Amino acid sequence: MIDDTTERAREVIARCQMLSRFSEDSGRTRRTFLSAPMRDCHREISSWMKALGMSVSVDAAGNLRGIYPGASPSAPRLLIGSHLDTVPDAGAFDGILGVMIAISLVESLRGQKLSFGIEIIGFSEEEGVRFGVPFIGSRALVGRLDKELLGREDERGISVKEAIQDFGLNPNDIHKAVLSNEVLAFLEFHIEQGPVLEHAGHALGVVEAIVGQSRAEFTFSGQANHSGTTPMDHRRDALAAAAEWILAAEALAHRTPGLLATVGFVEVSPNAVNIIPGKSRVALDIRHPLDGERTGALADLIKQAESLGARRGVTVECRMLLAQPAVAMDPFLTQQIALAVQKAASQSYRMASGAGHDAMILAEKIPAAMIFLRTPGGVSHHPSETVQLDDVVKALQCGQHLLAQLTVSQEFLGRTHRA
Ligand SMILES: [Zn+2]
Repeated sequence: MIDDTTERAREVIARCQMLSRFSEDSGRTRRTFLSAPMRDCHREISSWMKALGMSVSVDAAGNLRGIYPGASPSAPRLLIGSHLDTVPDAGAFDGILGVMIAISLVESLRGQKLSFGIEIIGFSEEEGVRFGVPFIGSRALVGRLDKELLGREDERGISVKEAIQDFGLNPNDIHKAVLSNEVLAFLEFHIEQGPVLEHAGHALGVVEAIVGQSRAEFTFSGQANHSGTTPMDHRRDALAAAAEWILAAEALAHRTPGLLATVGFVEVSPNAVNIIPGKSRVALDIRHPLDGERTGALADLIKQAESLGARRGVTVECRMLLAQPAVAMDPFLTQQIALAVQKAASQSYRMASGAGHDAMILAEKIPAAMIFLRTPGGVSHHPSETVQLDDVVKALQCGQHLLAQLTVSQEFLGRTHRA
């Protein structure tokens, strides 16, 4: 058999670049949920899938789905894909690369049928740009595109339901988008969007878990007062207290492996140059692959806020905004992927994903797994986002090894839908 992997990797990259031109903004890539350029994107991708003998459809949530049947008509399917929507001023690879890799993997089979079918999915919405809610596409597959979400409106007052109708789809058919019992598992290739693989010198990463995250708002209340007449030892400075606590959060994350702590929001009042701050409101985002580590760190930071507040005469209130548990990727698939990565890249590197992905939503119902590709400079959500040809070659080789492993795996085929 001729090895055309490099050629196909080139095509994967060229297709991503070509599709990035289907945009709502001229000269920049912006393709949100069910926007007009998404239709152009669907048309091109459909033609590539149809050329491989796949049957293609768009479900009522706007997800593009192509089926490559297995050896027997009743064979279950492996779902492979990622998202087709983008952030504003996006790069060419976030999401869509995973769909192009999936198509290239089907192409690599040259018509050969496996013991399972392959369903390629291009999710309609992952980034949360248009409606402020992410994962609309994958939520539809797990039955969570509900009435409340359908009623949500974008900036122009168009609801999700209306957007679906305007795109020529029928919201009453949403239930048909739900995963059927014939789907064995979900596999997603995605750029890492961070610097970890590049720093470690690896082309590919085997994702073991998508980190859990908590968000909490801390309000430090002291006493606003004159900056010229209040001696330093008489102050109850709410911002100085918050600042000390922000550094404590950073220090805790530095000494706790795997912990990420960020304070990205600060509001001070009265916020004037000659007034000691009376109140400061800050928001913490804290993440870890292990839920116990994350909740333990949060409890520690609440305690530290209270004790440093007490020392400074500042009271502290904490309000939880979000508590999202970590999502483990399927251990069997993760181990199979590690083996395939080992064959393709002669080493296999396991890591956690700090960002949420469609695989996290699908994991609620079926075994899900992810493979990360090195992101040069760690740059993503930016037009300069790139991917190296050789890394795409390795990703394709990894995918081909994985398909070859799974088609003869009784354990894989014996798996049934958990829902
Ligand atoms: Zn993405």
